[in-house]
Amino acid sequence: MYSTSDQQHLNQLTSSLIKNESAQSPAAEADAIRSVIRYHDWRYYVLSEPVITDRDYDTLFQRLKDIEASHPELITPDSPTQRVAAGLTEDFAQVAHLASMLSLENSYNAEDVADFDRKVRELTGAEKIEYCVEPKFDGSSIALVYENDQLVRAATRGDGTIGEDITMNARALASIPLSAGFSKLGIYRIELRGEVIIKKEVFEKMNQDRKELSLKTFQNARNTASGSLRLKDPREAASRGLEAILYHISYAVDRDGKNLIGTKLHSHYGNIELLNENGFKTPIRDMKVCKTETAIESFLSEWETKRHTYPIETDGMVIKVNDLNMQDRCGSTSHHPRWAIAYKFAAKQAQSKLIDVEYQVGRTGAVTPVAKIEPVPLAGVTISSISLHNADFIKEKDIKLGDTVIVERAGEVIPYIVGVVPDLRSGTEEEIVFPTECPSCHNTLVRPEEEAVWRCDNAECPAQAEERIIHYVSKDAMDVDGLGRSIILELKENQLLANIEGIYELDRAKILALKGWKEKSVNNLFNSIEESKDRPLWRLLNSLGIRHVGITTAKDLSKHVQTIFDLEGMSVENLTHIEGIGPKVAQSIFDFFSKEGNVHLLKKLKEYGVNTENRPEDALAKNNKLQGQTFLFTGSLQQFTRDRAKQLVEENGGTLLSGVSTKLNYLVAGEDAGSKLSKAKAIPTIKILTEDEFLAMIG
Ligand SMILES: [Zn+2]
Repeated sequence: MYSTSDQQHLNQLTSSLIKNESAQSPAAEADAIRSVIRYHDWRYYVLSEPVITDRDYDTLFQRLKDIEASHPELITPDSPTQRVAAGLTEDFAQVAHLASMLSLENSYNAEDVADFDRKVRELTGAEKIEYCVEPKFDGSSIALVYENDQLVRAATRGDGTIGEDITMNARALASIPLSAGFSKLGIYRIELRGEVIIKKEVFEKMNQDRKELSLKTFQNARNTASGSLRLKDPREAASRGLEAILYHISYAVDRDGKNLIGTKLHSHYGNIELLNENGFKTPIRDMKVCKTETAIESFLSEWETKRHTYPIETDGMVIKVNDLNMQDRCGSTSHHPRWAIAYKFAAKQAQSKLIDVEYQVGRTGAVTPVAKIEPVPLAGVTISSISLHNADFIKEKDIKLGDTVIVERAGEVIPYIVGVVPDLRSGTEEEIVFPTECPSCHNTLVRPEEEAVWRCDNAECPAQAEERIIHYVSKDAMDVDGLGRSIILELKENQLLANIEGIYELDRAKILALKGWKEKSVNNLFNSIEESKDRPLWRLLNSLGIRHVGITTAKDLSKHVQTIFDLEGMSVENLTHIEGIGPKVAQSIFDFFSKEGNVHLLKKLKEYGVNTENRPEDALAKNNKLQGQTFLFTGSLQQFTRDRAKQLVEENGGTLLSGVSTKLNYLVAGEDAGSKLSKAKAIPTIKILTEDEFLAMIG
């Protein structure tokens, strides 16, 4: 759009205009200001790299307005001041598109894409086809018409044939050039297709601001974009942070009405370059010309991950035949073009109905509301219950019983409720009333200051005891195989198990007398319980359910004591001297060991033969080959199990991470590695290893 020397010139012109150095005629000054404003608009809205302060920009803009106010004859239709005309628009007029806006057929996997490629090759008779692959923006579609280089019309998609004239609002969007140099190419009339979007960040900020002003927040960026485009007041529309991205030329003719697509314009990629050079915002940096199916596939899979961090909402990718004559040979059905296909990302949002809310008491007494929803499939799993976190969350999201809720699940994240759809309320929805007493022991719930959760502080609460036992026996804790949640509940109901120490006091004969239990199953259970007495100290530390103490902290702690009872006398300050322990964690360890009941439990466990010592044979690291290095495993491993892999890292003094981040040094990728691999590839400091390479590292 602007060459380097153009830019230097415009930067100099800007500073001399700001300093008000040269005395020139109003016409010349208005011209100069217009040219620098256009340039700064381009830098700001298209490149997102402004080189002028807001204040200087406003000063110049105001000066231009002043000149035009005293010399109305100097106003040009493409003057930046004419973007937002004063006054409100009438109802939107209906206008016919120059070329129909068809929708795209969808594809969901590699086979669909291969099918599409086969059909295209059949239709064109070509052996190899070049495709353009680009993100599919989740916004509101628009069509812009330029005539003789001037923007003359903007329309919504409408029904694809007839849309609504939103020219006034489109002119208010600074990312849409009011004029462009198409005539240099002999193009007289041209129609461009694009999407009006709101960046994720802008959308969030807008909702925050609205919340502060007690205005209703917007549900999603796409609806907000399409709603904003149809606002009656262009000033309001312009204030919504809308941006237009242009990704297609659907029509181009010369002065005689002769079609130029395929003759003057040759490729889709070339068209996008042309738009880019003319100052339009385009997906050019995010599109790729792919010559093989493998190239398409890997670009698509790259985007499955990339889209989460991409600043604009996307709901998939678009694969287009690059050559415009080939496109023409493919043609269109009445519904969709045969030369393009949308590739949809795995669904991440779904709607369902909130049927009920249940309240679960955790092992620390925290009462968590859990939404029971009508089962809904989402990204490969069926979801029927979702945490509502706490009372504040329910209030903040204004969730009512009977509401239609939007459920989201992204990647490996636990599903969560994004919000409700108030428009779908029937009036029969009911407020969710948070209980005042514990659903298990009926103790009055308390809410400690600075905390969002209500807690049952009854030390004897059966629900908490139950959760503590479940946690104690779990895989990452004492790993008591064969003592799962349902058996714990069964034993508890039969008054055979009430607390953690009770595991080691179980009565063999009484369990055998229960329905369904046989000699063998009882033996298995007792063997597992016996085995659990011989666990390394960190497992015991992790099994106690001390707040903020998980596996990592438990391991850090276990390295620094001889016996678990050493922790009993340690002050908060001393605890913070242990590597990896911050003040919050230290306080909670201190609190735990200050309670007599907890120390009593540990003494009992010791009495029953449970290991409470830091034994040399349990030392996690046998050597320090991987000292200071972090690892993550992904894909299906052939030479060892996940557990063995983790053990190998620890034995060699390395650390395991749970996700890809800049803290990660090595990603060991097995077969069919997915999103973690593509994410790691995007971070240059992460080394990707095969299983063999990893084994070679540890010898
Ligand atoms: Zn309770």
